[in-house]
Amino acid sequence: MSFKSGFVTIIGRPNVGKSTLVNYLIGEKISITSPRPQTTRNSIKAIYTEDAGQIIFVDTPGIYKTKNDLDKYMVNEAYKSLEGIDVIIFMLDATEKFQKGDQIIYNQIKNSSNPFLIVLNKIDKVKKKELPNILKDYNKRIEENIIPISSKTGRNVNNLINEIFELLPAGPQYYPDDMITDQIEQFIVAEMIREKTFYLLREEVPFGIAVVIEEMKERNDETMYIRANIYVEKKSHKGIIIGKNGKMLKKIGTRARKDVEKLLQQKVYLDLWVKIEKDWRDDENLLRRMGYKG
Ligand code: GDP
Ligand code: MG
Repeated sequence: MSFKSGFVTIIGRPNVGKSTLVNYLIGEKISITSPRPQTTRNSIKAIYTEDAGQIIFVDTPGIYKTKNDLDKYMVNEAYKSLEGIDVIIFMLDATEKFQKGDQIIYNQIKNSSNPFLIVLNKIDKVKKKELPNILKDYNKRIEENIIPISSKTGRNVNNLINEIFELLPAGPQYYPDDMITDQIEQFIVAEMIREKTFYLLREEVPFGIAVVIEEMKERNDETMYIRANIYVEKKSHKGIIIGKNGKMLKKIGTRARKDVEKLLQQKVYLDLWVKIEKDWRDDENLLRRMGYKG
């Protein structure tokens, strides 16, 4: 069988559990901040790779930014962001009845040309023997097959993944296996900082360094504020990186900032912190936040 790949987006009313599913797929709750919220480009939320293929979960701007304002779902503009999406996942909440907001979204996806799957989330919250009735109720409004899942416990999520693969076209592996969340930009920025330590520091120090972008957000004056932690394994290394009167850290920061400004095409404020984390190589959480599976 050929490798399949494609872009998937999850839509649904606020609070149905879209983020929880993405977090489950990433395997760990991590805070994901989109570095460029204003751009039309879809931002990647999670990358799921297995032998059968690769699923790239993306955020559809506009659809997600409709909190508490269901009417905005009707703004067609938002649905333009569904172009290039291979599969839409429409998420419903098993603990709630089918609502006006659900109907609006349902109408929209039926009118779009994208293939879609319908998921009923939070089944861990309803009694087992109630589930068939809930599904029956939903099927009065929805003619397609509904996939019950729990994003919290992961129940039946593998089934959802299989259904997604059924709908995906044959395609290339877009991202390396071990990359599980986007932050492609954040990843590159972290690498740029790390690279500078290689240029500027004694040999053994840079190999023990990890860089994690803690925050990346555009300020009102359009500069990009980036806060990054540089993790080192030894106290002595911390001293070396900071340097006398903070000179070395300043040098690293200035050089990295120039590269990052070129990458992002905007002014950057780079806020670097050095932290000692003896066993960062074994810290799965930290590795995940660096964009690796660990
Ligand atoms: P979003 O607005 O669609 O992204 O919804 P969130 O992912 O933020 O989830 C809203 C709330 O529902 C949070 O408190 C989640 O913990 C909870 N939640 C999401 N999925 C599940 C699930 O499968 N089971 C249970 N019990 N709670 C869930
Ligand atoms: Mg959310």
